[in-house]
Amino acid sequence: MRIAVIGGGISGIASAFYLRQRNCSVDLFESEEQIGGRIGSHKLLGRWVDFGGKNIGRHYRRFRDFARTCGDPDFEYFGFNTSQLINSRVIGISKEGAKSFNMLRMMSLCGLDGVLKLYPHVRAILKDREQGVLCSRYFREIAHKNDHLTLATYLKSRCVNQVIRPVTIRMNGAEPDECYPGNFGSNLALALDSYEQLKHGMHSLLHDFRTMGGPGSIRILEGHRVTSVSSDPDAGTVSIGYLHRGVPGVAAYDRVISALPALRLAQLLEQNIPEASALLRRISYYPVAVSIAKYSNEVFSKERRAMLFDQSHPLSNVGAYGINDLGLVRYTFSGRMSRSIISEDSSPEEVIDLGEKIAAPYFSINENRREGFVYRYLAEGLCAYSSRHHLLLEKIDRELEKISGFAATGDYRRGASIEACFSAAYESVDKVTGNLS
Ligand SMILES: Cc1cc2nc3c(=O)[nH]c(=O)nc-3n(C[C@H](O)[C@H](O)[C@H](O)COP(=O)(O)OP(=O)(O)OC[C@H]3O[C@@H](n4cnc5c(N)ncnc54)[C@H](O)[C@@H]3O)c2cc1C
Repeated sequence: MRIAVIGGGISGIASAFYLRQRNCSVDLFESEEQIGGRIGSHKLLGRWVDFGGKNIGRHYRRFRDFARTCGDPDFEYFGFNTSQLINSRVIGISKEGAKSFNMLRMMSLCGLDGVLKLYPHVRAILKDREQGVLCSRYFREIAHKNDHLTLATYLKSRCVNQVIRPVTIRMNGAEPDECYPGNFGSNLALALDSYEQLKHGMHSLLHDFRTMGGPGSIRILEGHRVTSVSSDPDAGTVSIGYLHRGVPGVAAYDRVISALPALRLAQLLEQNIPEASALLRRISYYPVAVSIAKYSNEVFSKERRAMLFDQSHPLSNVGAYGINDLGLVRYTFSGRMSRSIISEDSSPEEVIDLGEKIAAPYFSINENRREGFVYRYLAEGLCAYSSRHHLLLEKIDRELEKISGFAATGDYRRGASIEACFSAAYESVDKVTGNLS
């Protein structure tokens, strides 16, 4: 089969990977000059650093299979180690050290209401990790019963501020009053995992992906922006219109998979299927800005490697890039306050100055020299899904059936984590090729 995948982020890469395993011949269309999307990297003082998704959970089974096939890169420990300012006291939150102490601390942060509400969800995920993806059987039930509420009203304020917000702000870029209980399982599963990262980063993995072997073939078409998708029922093919260096082109395929964020797919289908486009636009995305700075000396200690900030700050999180990189700092700006201050037009220098000012009282920043930094602003950085999300996806899929041989995957299908992108990609490949596994 000749198959096109639109979008060269990790969802598109995962789709191409699974298609290749099924002996398909794949064209991967990417509008930018390089694949990677939100796992993209940048060079800082001669070293590649990752701006987006980089932390890999121990339960990321599909991603780890992919990495193994790509050349089996080394992972290094990242851990789960952060802190938070509560009533002017710095409270550490970690999975390192005594397990019972960490558990008691987490329960005290949740409060009694939080423990009672979250415990059944935690148990469901620990029993079956598949329940910790977006729209799983268990969380569809939760959505049916509770998605008339937001997370902020579903739980009491103590749990919302101390436990839920730090998670939604990092994974969805959204405040708890912009997220729904039925979708929280995909975040909870991440909080129940512990993390590693690729020793040589995502850039090196993407390099290995380009040269990976397999039964089928993958042609990577960078700088090719897809502008239309339509089906040709007589020929039994799906046509793609694209622009490459300003020159339009058309190509026909047996099947096509969109691996675009919902909003981008909405734009693509605007003319052809306006109904699908309108539904896709109901899925929320929020901006995120990330800056990575290198300092002359260590900023963090091994025992305290990150800090979360509350809704009064535009900086949501500051952390060491890795356990062996305590002088390389990643600043993440997301949430309502960040949105009100930082935009596409903000100066990177002003944004990092702001981050340093907020973090300086807690870490060795002022006495350190900043040697260099890189910055990226993503207008549609993080997906926050929608209320009763699974019902919306069912409606979208019914509309997408209007293009026969077409399927859609992406961060809005099974969750935003890299592993969830692999799960969704696997399902879309099953859909277009028939269940050959
Ligand atoms: C700051 C940040 C930190 C994160 N941290 C983690 C983490 O530590 N661990 C984790 O598991 N997850 C993390 N995530 C989540 C994860 O990285 C993302 O959900 C995931 O990378 C999304 O991949 P995607 O392929 O679905 O979308 P994208 O990466 O957005 O890919 C879509 C691609 O399509 C291309 N495109 C757009 N329009 C067109 C067109 N018309 N034609 C052709 N191509 C087009 C884009 O250029 C892009 O490359 C993080 C995300 C962010 C933003």
